[in-house]
Amino acid sequence: MGRASRKEIQSREDSAHHEAGHAVATCRVDLVGGAVTIKPKDGKLGLTLHEGDSITGATDDLQAIIAYAGYAAEKRHNSRADKTGSISDEESAEFYAHGKEEELRKKAEKIVAESWEQIECVAMALLEDEILMWEEWDVIINAVDEGREWRKDLAQIRLLMHHPIPEKEKDR
Ligand SMILES: [Zn+2]
Repeated sequence: MGRASRKEIQSREDSAHHEAGHAVATCRVDLVGGAVTIKPKDGKLGLTLHEGDSITGATDDLQAIIAYAGYAAEKRHNSRADKTGSISDEESAEFYAHGKEEELRKKAEKIVAESWEQIECVAMALLEDEILMWEEWDVIINAVDEGREWRKDLAQIRLLMHHPIPEKEKDR
């Protein structure tokens, strides 16, 4: 298969930041998201499992903000990021924005700017593992928020996810 070209590496990094943007925005508006992945699917990079779907419990405003946050993060990472990969996000945001596109896009950009460290850590984890469950990216964001080493927290939650403590053991 040969080595990944510079362009492929760039696009993988852009995708990781894009997905991390959706994830962190979801967390910041107190919603529960789905898994995020940068695994190529049908030749396309960076589809989140919730891409195009609505998030349970989200108001239209929040739905639009989360949709805008993907490209907002991608562009902050790479000012020349290709916008064509974000067309479905744009369409979805427009559908939910009801004429408030600019206001909601700015809110998404603000969330991205304020949580840039968290976005970079989620993107880094995505580049390493290609897919993160909600529990995993949520743990990364909380660890960074609270000044802990996110890799340790991530390793810990993965242990719990793979080896859940049986109910009856918990009460002892
Ligand atoms: Zn997206």
